[in-house]
Parts: sequence; structure tokens; C-alpha cells
Amino acid sequence: MKKLKIYNSFSRELSDFSSIDPKNEYVGMYVCGPTVYNEVHLGNCRTFVSFDIVYRYLLHKAYKVRYVRNITDVGHLEGDADSGAESKIDQRARLERLEPMEIVQKYSNLFHHVMQQLNTLPPSIEPTATGHIVEQIEMVKQIIANGYGYEKNGSVYFNTRKLIEENKGYGTLSGKLVDDLLNESRDNLKNQDEKEHPSDFAIWVKASPTHIMRWPSPWGEGFPGWHLECSAMSTKYLGQTFDIHGGGMDLQFPHHENEIAQNLGACGCQPVRYWMHGNMLVLNGKKMSKSDGNYIMPRELFAGSSPLMTKAYSPMTLRFFMLQAHYRSTLNITEEAMQGAEIGLQRLMEANAVLQELQYSGEANNTDLDAKINSIIDAAFGEMDNDFNTPNALAELFGLVSEIQKFHNKQQSLNLISEATLNRLKDSFKALIFDVFGLMDETAANDSSAEMLDGLMQMIIEFRKEAREQKNWAKSDLIRDELLKLGIQIKDGKEGASWTKL
Ligand code: AMP
Ligand code: ZN
Repeated sequence: MKKLKIYNSFSRELSDFSSIDPKNEYVGMYVCGPTVYNEVHLGNCRTFVSFDIVYRYLLHKAYKVRYVRNITDVGHLEGDADSGAESKIDQRARLERLEPMEIVQKYSNLFHHVMQQLNTLPPSIEPTATGHIVEQIEMVKQIIANGYGYEKNGSVYFNTRKLIEENKGYGTLSGKLVDDLLNESRDNLKNQDEKEHPSDFAIWVKASPTHIMRWPSPWGEGFPGWHLECSAMSTKYLGQTFDIHGGGMDLQFPHHENEIAQNLGACGCQPVRYWMHGNMLVLNGKKMSKSDGNYIMPRELFAGSSPLMTKAYSPMTLRFFMLQAHYRSTLNITEEAMQGAEIGLQRLMEANAVLQELQYSGEANNTDLDAKINSIIDAAFGEMDNDFNTPNALAELFGLVSEIQKFHNKQQSLNLISEATLNRLKDSFKALIFDVFGLMDETAANDSSAEMLDGLMQMIIEFRKEAREQKNWAKSDLIRDELLKLGIQIKDGKEGASWTKL
């Protein structure tokens, strides 16, 4: 039942998955979350949807999953520490004239809203970096005590050379050669001369006088280095070694390579059994990225306001579009692809509606069609077992859609399959599209919200009628004007008032 293969980016091979739990029941999964100093773009969303599918499929396979996805609310360095550089969150706070924590709250709320629109399941724990400063300081102390860290002028650096010389596999995850690593500098600190070697990286950074987010530490006031929070929080909630660690491909180096280094330095063990990396969403032939100005925001796509699209596409259309590529392949977003996804999603939902209404009418067993339908269902789940191959699983589902249509058009008789197979078809189809793929039937959602709007409008019209009967014209006009601002027009006629959406 639990056979599942996962491509491990550390060993670079597809391997059978089994959890650390001796009974193979519990799974610990950590996914790097967003840095909340601005809105997430569709590229970020792709990575979170990819790991939502992994989470959902593990749950479907009856694993008990502790899914930890952090919120990075301590800004990474934008410039250099020495010249009073600001973190991204500090910078944004000054720009928007808000407290850094207001920035963090604002963009965390927006992130959660988008995740909800995309129907991603919330993680079991969503720890924040600022909520785990104590744990991070403890980890720095441990790294120093073990000889892998050194302090210089209030900052603490990780000694990569020691790890390399001890042959502890620094560079294995990212596939970097030791020589390249030794010559590479990978943070923006101006004080490179504080480091004993260019490849060393900061695990604690001395705060410049203007730096807003700062905490006291044994090394003076400062803030944790870029990679430390994920090491500290994954260890705290999942243990020193846990099952799955995910994130976008662009985090392999330096972020994940340095996470491994920190864990090795602090605990002496490899933190992760299966490293998983999602590939990039591409726009105009380049990785989608905010800093390059090459991006689409989810709200633009959903409202139809993106200059790159001629109309709006719904959250589920976006989700379906993402399912059409394997998480390890790049995915290119175009209007044509979104149109195709819209049609595909509609076909899938229509087929499901038809299927759930089919009534069993025969007694057949062991027919070719019966075997065929069962084997397509097996194949669909088999594709998911093969490193979460959503495009192939979708292709199998569309094989079932053709069979469902033939039943519906009476091109083939339901007599040809057994009742057990029809029930399995109904259950598996629903399980795949709703539970595993996380799609929702948006027409159903729209129907119920239209009903609710209608009910609310009747109520408002009634209140306005009462105001008019009491000759309270000011109130009656206020209701009319406020509704107009919301895009709803009230018209008074002989039969009473009616309303229309503008
Ligand atoms: P950040 O907030 O920049 O740390 O990014 C959050 C997540 O989005 C990380 O896992 C990144 O790897 C991922 N990410 C960033 N850009 C893209 C992209 N164009 N396509 C897919 N994932 C991305
Ligand atoms: Zn991380």
C-alpha cells in the first residue's frame, strides 16, 4: 500500500521512501516558507502548491505527517552589514512607514489569503524566525563549541574550511566542487576580511546602528544569519534528522547547503533523509522573479488585471495548470497554457459530476472494460507513487474521463462493469481530484455565493424600503450610494426595487 518513490536531490536518485519511524507511519516534512517583506508571485506559489501535493499525497497514503513550513520574518541582508545595510523587511518598513512587525503581519496575512485561494492545506506548524531567536542563539553557541564557528567583531561565521577538510560532504547537495566553494563568497557582507575564508558564511550578524530588527546575544546586539532559522526550527520540531526537506531549486545553494553545514556543525549528523526541490516557474523564458520585474501576482491573474493576460483566470485554473507539469520540470506560463488549463479543469469537473450521478444497473464481472477501468485507476495512483508525477496521473484521469463520457452518452453500457468497479471509480476519481490534487469545483462555490448575495440584497432592499416609508431619504440615498461603490446598482420601479451588478 505504501510503496512510494521519491527523487532525492542529495543522492540524485529515485529511491524507495520509508520514514524514520520504525513502523513507517509518521513523516516529518519541512518546507522553506516565504520571506514576508512583499507579496508572493506565481513562482513562489508554484513551489508551495508542489509541496501541498506532496503533503496531500502522503496524507492520502495514510501517513501521519507533521508538516512544518516557516515564515521568514527576519530580513535577509539587502546590502552590506558594515555600511548600515538594511534587511529587506527594515527597508520595506521605512518605505511604507510601518513597524517591521506590521510589514511582517501584512504580508503574512496576504500570503495566507493566497494559499487559501489556491486551496493549499495549512501546515501543522508555521514557526517564525523572530519567535525562535533563543533556539538560533543556542545553535550558534553549539556550532562554536564544536569548533565550526568563530566570532569576529560581534558577528559569528561558520568555518566551512573545517567541514571541507574533514570531508563531511560540504557541496554534495549543490554539486559544487570544493575549489569553487573555497573561492566563492556567498553573502553580501562588506566585511569579507572578518572571515577566515571567503566561503565562510555569517550565522550571527552584528546589527549596524540603523538596523531595526535586533536582539541581544552573547556576541552583542545582532540578528541571525540567513540560513540559521531553518536549521534551528526543523531541529526543534522534527528532530536532528527528519524525513523530507523541500523548497525551490534556487534554494539548493547556498541556503540548503549551509543548512546542512550548520546541522553538521551543531549536531554532527545529516539533518535530512530526502531532499526535494521543486523547479521554477518561467515567464518570458526567464525564472519568474520579483527583483527582475519578471512576474505576475496571483491577484493580477485572478482579477484579470495582468498586462500579460487578456482575461482573468481562477485560482483552480492556476492550480490545474501547475499540475500539468512534474514538480521537477520547469513550467512556462503563457496565456495559451492558461486557456488550455481552464478547459481541462472544466472537463474534469463535468466528468466528475456525471460520474457521481451514474446509477449501477448490471451484474457484470471480469469483463475487459471492468479490467481496463481498474487498471487505469491503478496507473493513476502508480504515477503519483512515482515521485508525485501529476502530469502522468492527470493523463490517466483523462483516460477515465473518456470512459465516463461513453457511459453518459450510452455508447457503452454500465452493465459491462461490476458495482464494485463503479464504486471504486467514483471514489478514486473524487479522491484524486479533490483530496490529492486539491482542486475545487468553483462553479459550486460560485453558485452558493451567488445565492448568498441574493439573500443579502433582498435584506438590504427591505431595510431601504423601511427607510423610505419613514421618509428617511438620507438613509435611503446612503444605502444606494454605498452599494454603488461596491458595483451594485439599485433601481426603483413600480414593482419595488431591484438590483443589478455593474
Ligand atoms: P522566498 O520568499 O524568496 O524565499 O521564496 C519562497 C519560495 O519560492 C522558495 O522555495 C523559492 O525557491 C520559491 N521560488 C522563488 N521563485 C520561484 C519561481 N520562479 N518558481 C518556483 N519557485 C520559486
Ligand atoms: Zn529555509
